[in-house]
Amino acid sequence: MQDVIIIGAGPAGLSTAFWCDELGLDALVLEQAEHVGGQLHRVYNPINNYLGLKARNGEELLERFSADVESAEFDLWTQTTISSVDLKAKRISLASGENLQSIALVIATGVRPRVLGVPGEKEFAGKGMIESATRDRELFAGQDVCVVGGGDAAVENALLLADVCPTVTLVHRGKKLRARHEFREQLQSKHCITVFTESVLTRIMGDERVEAVEIHRKQGLKPFQLAVRGVLIRIGVEPNTELFRDQLETDENGYVVVNSQQETNVPMVFAVGDVSNPVAPTISGATGSGATAAKVIAGKLSAKVAQ
Ligand SMILES: Cc1cc2nc3c(=O)[nH]c(=O)nc-3n(C[C@H](O)[C@H](O)[C@H](O)COP(=O)(O)OP(=O)(O)OC[C@H]3O[C@@H](n4cnc5c(N)ncnc54)[C@H](O)[C@@H]3O)c2cc1C
Repeated sequence: MQDVIIIGAGPAGLSTAFWCDELGLDALVLEQAEHVGGQLHRVYNPINNYLGLKARNGEELLERFSADVESAEFDLWTQTTISSVDLKAKRISLASGENLQSIALVIATGVRPRVLGVPGEKEFAGKGMIESATRDRELFAGQDVCVVGGGDAAVENALLLADVCPTVTLVHRGKKLRARHEFREQLQSKHCITVFTESVLTRIMGDERVEAVEIHRKQGLKPFQLAVRGVLIRIGVEPNTELFRDQLETDENGYVVVNSQQETNVPMVFAVGDVSNPVAPTISGATGSGATAAKVIAGKLSAKVAQ
């Protein structure tokens, strides 16, 4: 029996565990991936907005977190697959057959990029699918590319690619781009970017690697194929809540609903970080909410002992 089990070892889960140690709580962190850090492994841009710390990218920020994380006392199991969770009972069954029990549970499972789900998307991973313009644009310099999405991330990536690619085709399902004004304004001066709104990418084609995409434009117009060598998809994220979605209150998109103390509607079950923050997901928000959850849990457990 642990005081606290934390599911997920991104910034939110690590901060919760760090604070549990600070407050004298036994904590166990379960992480499905090989390494801790969550989305930080996909942040290739400089991080200049975490107060008091600057980092060239997510890996560097994670290195800085690691010194504190390693000196704290909590258990961490990576490459751990959870097969089921009973939130009410605070019982977790692992794929290995082991069962775990705690007094409090903290959900820190973050979000994952949404996929288009079209033919070719999975098949061409690493063969023309661009993960990040910051990281990959030199690889695609001089080649025609396509970006899917209409938010900040899609337009920012299209702008970065436009610096090195002869043509960038931006395909967006909606009538208007959702990206912030500053990015939309920069689009005007990038003549190599073509924007197709009310359009969807329906297929990624090629032999050994990406060679073309199929685009369906507004209703009534015929689909057409466009020769490109790279495709970048930025159509938002979705919360990792499938394991427990039917056991607690979530919003219409599956994000866990919490109060200002990070409590869910199930007693002694908390959610921290992006999984409970659809509006303003940030590293500082993730670490801050982890601290809040740990402090609230410590308060509740000491009140119980005092009774
Ligand atoms: C390209 C990019 C750039 C960004 N730039 C910035 C920036 O400049 N500044 C900023 O503040 N934020 C930035 N962010 C956002 C920031 O990375 C996130 O807000 C932050 O990582 C959220 O932390 P988290 O711990 O809540 O979730 P995550 O980082 O998503 O971590 C969740 C962890 O839970 C694990 N997990 C999921 N399901 C399970 C399960 N069933 N069992 C066990 N483990 C599980 C995952 O493997 C993962 O390790 C950026 C994000 C991206 C993708």
